[in-house]
Amino acid sequence: MCVLYINVHSIVLSISFLSNHISGVLKGWDDGGRWDTIFLAGQRDKDPPIIFDKIIAGEILADAVRENERVLAFKDINSAAPAHILVFPKDRYGLSNLRKASAEHIDILGRLLVAAGKIANDEILGFGDRALIVINDGSDCGQGVPHLHVHVLGGRKMIWPPG
Ligand code: AMP
Repeated sequence: MCVLYINVHSIVLSISFLSNHISGVLKGWDDGGRWDTIFLAGQRDKDPPIIFDKIIAGEILADAVRENERVLAFKDINSAAPAHILVFPKDRYGLSNLRKASAEHIDILGRLLVAAGKIANDEILGFGDRALIVINDGSDCGQGVPHLHVHVLGGRKMIWPPG
């Protein structure tokens, strides 16, 4: 009986040790970004909801100009040009910025660019025969909202390169 108790006890200890060990290894891989090559890994989204989620939820009003099941476009509240539209995926898919993109994002990235191109052709929105289509990536590069979005700017001449 005593022998049996010891064996059961040591098995429980071993399982617990193994479980902790596996969790530690997985966390190490996660922190090191080693899951990123695995299918759908980029769709894990640990970032907290932000302003665009509130706009999608209708908690903050925005001047929407286009919408479909995957993409929303609205006028930038702090317009940097006569025409300035933001296009973004309704579901962030883990894309707080473009550098997190991987193969599983090809579909949504294509949809964003097609939507941006259509908007850049929309004369009613103030676009003509030219547009500047920009993705800011990182706070040092002008990105303030960590939810991937495409800026479509037009209605005036643009200067390149940016500062
Ligand atoms: P970025 O700086 O590239 O992250 O762009 C974020 C953009 O979101 C900025 O140009 C802001 O002016 C714009 N923005 C922030 N809040 C709102 C809002 N409530 N409605 C419309 N545009 C917004």
